[in-house]
Amino acid sequence: MIVVMKHGATPEEIQNVAARLRHFGFDIHVSAGVERTVIGAIGDKKPAILENIEALPGVERIVPILQPFKLAGREWKPEPTIVQVGDVRIGSDEFVVMAGPCAVESEAQLIETARAVKAAGARILRGGAYKPRTSPYSFQGLAEEGLRLLALAREETGLPVITEVLSPKDVPLVAEYADILQIGARNMQNFSLLREVAVTKKPVLLKRGLANTVEEWLMAAEYILSGGNHQVILCERGIRTFETATRNTLDLSAVAVAKELSHLPVIVDPSHGTGKRQYVAPLSRAACAVGADGLIIEVHPRPEEALSDGPQSLTPAQFSHLMGELAAVAAAVGRRVAQAARVGASR
Ligand code: PEP
Ligand code: MN
Repeated sequence: MIVVMKHGATPEEIQNVAARLRHFGFDIHVSAGVERTVIGAIGDKKPAILENIEALPGVERIVPILQPFKLAGREWKPEPTIVQVGDVRIGSDEFVVMAGPCAVESEAQLIETARAVKAAGARILRGGAYKPRTSPYSFQGLAEEGLRLLALAREETGLPVITEVLSPKDVPLVAEYADILQIGARNMQNFSLLREVAVTKKPVLLKRGLANTVEEWLMAAEYILSGGNHQVILCERGIRTFETATRNTLDLSAVAVAKELSHLPVIVDPSHGTGKRQYVAPLSRAACAVGADGLIIEVHPRPEEALSDGPQSLTPAQFSHLMGELAAVAAAVGRRVAQAARVGASR
């Protein structure tokens, strides 16, 4: 529920209401607006408690949260959440680009890609060490060796790293290496995995499932938020439709919907969203225009040799060209592409 304080309620009255709510076991979030303060409260709403709160000095009214997602919704927290990773602020006025190979394949491949995407302006390095492959005979990733290589690339370039965790039992190990834990589309409703990543308190990138509604996606985020981890980034990566011209159908309307319903940052993956390199740049520009907070893009120095997702990977030159185009689109919609600070940028 939301406790709406009266216009002009004093700081003491607000503190008193917050203290009573905590006393009754509510999890609370205070939001001080220009007009009035509202206090979001989640917990057991016994009628006697509601009456008690409603009668406190300074309280105007109590409004129930109608949406099934509570902590993920804007009713609970109207202002945007900013997830900070190093000096990168995802969900702010900066448009943040994450890039790197689909899979970590070798030290040489990863370091070459990391240097190239950094030079082009990427702020976060992606790379899978545990790969969710349709076929058990396909390359499954380098596992812990891949994580070690990601840590090495971070040391070499200064870029924070994002990598997928496939299984609850791997969460502690992956969290030791990764700056952001990625939950893949196939695992969006793996509730034990969601509970496990909540415990780490590391930022989590939650991909939308291949056949999940926006509401189910936000309910999945709710598992992580209610587990005490508030650093969640949503990622639209395309859904299954009847269309076969692209690998998936990138649902950019879901970005607008998720941004309206939720305070969480929303980024777009145009690589898995389209599956074809030639559509990655147009859909990246569109994602920026529609109001996404950033992108995650697959880049490989030699896509024809990639062990996974070569057809959708950009070359470093194509990626660099796209970054230039994004600067113009971002400026047109009142954003700017996040750039590395000058100090330390030479690493
Ligand atoms: C990936 O990012 O490499 C990946 C497997 O993505 P998704 O879970 O969206 O398919
Ligand atoms: Mn991939």
